[in-house]
Amino acid sequence: MSHLRDKRDVEYIRDISDRALDLMSMYNVIPSPSNYQVWYDYASEENMSLNKAIDDMIRQKKSFTSIACNNLYERFFSGDRVQNAVTSTGQGIQNELSRIAKAVSDLNKGTASYGVALKESLHSMGHVPGAETLKTIISGLLTETTNFASKNDSAQQQLKESAKTVQKLQTTLEAVRQESLTDMLTNIGNRKSFEENLKTTIEKINGKEDELCLVIGDIDHFKKFNDTWGHHVGDQVLKAVAHTIKTRVGEVGTAARYGGEEFVIILPDVSLEKARRLTDIIRLSIAERSMKRKSTGENIGRITCSFGVAKYRPGEHRNDFLERADAALYQSKANGRNQITLEGEAPRNVVKIA
Ligand code: GH3
Ligand code: MG
Ligand code: MG
Repeated sequence: MSHLRDKRDVEYIRDISDRALDLMSMYNVIPSPSNYQVWYDYASEENMSLNKAIDDMIRQKKSFTSIACNNLYERFFSGDRVQNAVTSTGQGIQNELSRIAKAVSDLNKGTASYGVALKESLHSMGHVPGAETLKTIISGLLTETTNFASKNDSAQQQLKESAKTVQKLQTTLEAVRQESLTDMLTNIGNRKSFEENLKTTIEKINGKEDELCLVIGDIDHFKKFNDTWGHHVGDQVLKAVAHTIKTRVGEVGTAARYGGEEFVIILPDVSLEKARRLTDIIRLSIAERSMKRKSTGENIGRITCSFGVAKYRPGEHRNDFLERADAALYQSKANGRNQITLEGEAPRNVVKIA
């Protein structure tokens, strides 16, 4: 069933891709990945406003100059769509090239074995009387086959070169995508990467029994810290905290900077209790570290963090999940900071020490 559907999907995509490439060549559009994306969507007729814009241009006999094409791309593909489109387009071209390269290579193999067969026939005819005419014909065929095979060789070589170029392009696109998912200050995942990650993690576990925990951490009294030591020192602290969290989480989950002085950790296949233990290791690693000003070596005291932990409830929206973790974090702050609260834990009576 699914194999048949996959096959139909592949045929459908190929069909649209062929149409897009035909149209691009008909209207002299440069075959860049972004243009391909525009024309692929046009050929698929999925975006009526894009189709209308292009149809209008065709009707008005406007030419598809680089600027006109860039405008189309900017207008219809922005934000996330650009990123995803670029990545999948590169991948699409790569797949297409591999497909053609394989077809040429198969053809080449076929030609080679046909050549061998011809040679053998020629050989075995050596003793048959009166076979001279036939031998001449086969010799001719053999020469043509050899020529054809060498032409195929160079075509294949060219395809290999193109495939290499596309692969490089693909790597560059992937690097750009990675950069857009990384927080520039702390070098860990940013909010966008967290949102994407949480969405796909939830999609993966929905309908299953798998556990999933979410931790939110927030630096305590960070405003005061900044006011005392300055933003630059504050930035160094953010880097240090991010590094500690990332190192401690390791392969067990994914850490990201949610924004400001808040961090989030996605922990798939981890129970609430296990999440608490891991978070406590992180909490202590941060609290025990005595910070020094990089430039002067001056001691700038300690930093603490408060945390909230929630466990995913099957079927719930990720925002509800996040809100429960955030409510638990709020509880940790209310209870006196530098601590962890699991969702649903009763507020403790905190005796404030002056
Ligand atoms: P609480 O314990 O209740 O969390 O207190 P807080 O002071 O940490 O919280 P508040 O939300 O009042 O202030 C957060 C501060 O974090 C404000 C801002 O100075 C600081 N901050 C946010 N982003 C950055 C950043 O990128 N660099 C630096 N240096 N500071 C930041
Ligand atoms: Mg905060
Ligand atoms: Mg804070």
